[in-house]
Amino acid sequence: FKVFYQPKYNIEGDKPRLCSAEALIRWFHPEYGMISPGEFISLFEEKGLIHKLDRYVWNEAAHQVKEWKEKYNVTVPVSVNVSRVDVFNPLLGDMLDGIIKDSGINHEDLLLEITESAYTDNSQQIIDTVTALRDRGFKIEMDDFGSGYSSLNMLTSLPIDALKLDMKFIRNICVNEKDSALVEIMIRISDLLEVPIIAEGVETKEQAELLKGIGCEIIQGYYFSKPVPGEEFEKFIEA
Ligand code: C2E
Ligand code: CA
Ligand code: CA
Repeated sequence: FKVFYQPKYNIEGDKPRLCSAEALIRWFHPEYGMISPGEFISLFEEKGLIHKLDRYVWNEAAHQVKEWKEKYNVTVPVSVNVSRVDVFNPLLGDMLDGIIKDSGINHEDLLLEITESAYTDNSQQIIDTVTALRDRGFKIEMDDFGSGYSSLNMLTSLPIDALKLDMKFIRNICVNEKDSALVEIMIRISDLLEVPIIAEGVETKEQAELLKGIGCEIIQGYYFSKPVPGEEFEKFIEA
């Protein structure tokens, strides 16, 4: 198993500025070659293996942040995925705190992405978990925003620090005016909540420019880079 990193860029200024990364797991199977997480995460969740995998990824990511800090004297915060199953682990906060302490980074340098549907599946449990994590100093990003059953009715009372727009919204923004208008509405929602919005799955210059034009602050996607190994990611820091 190897952790890959995909850059996120802030596009508000004249030139895009690297602002953070997302850690994404890759499985190099001796027989089947590279397997992407879409194919095995839900199986790992079912079989009770996700805790171990996620703890490995969080730990790797935290140490990577530290390594870059020492090598380049800059902090590149890394966001990690927190499975819906992890939310039920009573030791989650202590485990994450342990990783922060052990790696010597700050809480806000390990961002936690939790998928929107985890909120709608079990709202009280997740609100309690997320509130406790934020009290410890962690920042929470709602992943795949807009993809599941709507969380709109509870959005103003949810403890979150950023919205990650689901990539399906981006796909047709340059060919369908209604799609771009919808993204604009979601950007206004993030303004209302006073949290940044991150567009993921941005693949073309046209999409990036359109998003910038309607006030999207941060983008992630193949337009800038696919997820790459940590060593390769260093070219973005150097640039
Ligand atoms: P996600 O968290 O929504 O991650 C974004 C996915 O979109 C990643 O797929 C990424 O490689 C892909 N992507 C990024 N930019 C583009 C683009 O421009 N175009 C397209 N078509 N795709 C793009 P990936 O790495 O295959 O991961 C799939 C899902 O698996 C993730 O979706 C996440 O839910 C889950 N996952 C990945 N790593 C972990 C992990 O360490 N722990 C847990 N619990 N889940 C993980
Ligand atoms: Ca994610
Ligand atoms: Ca996502």
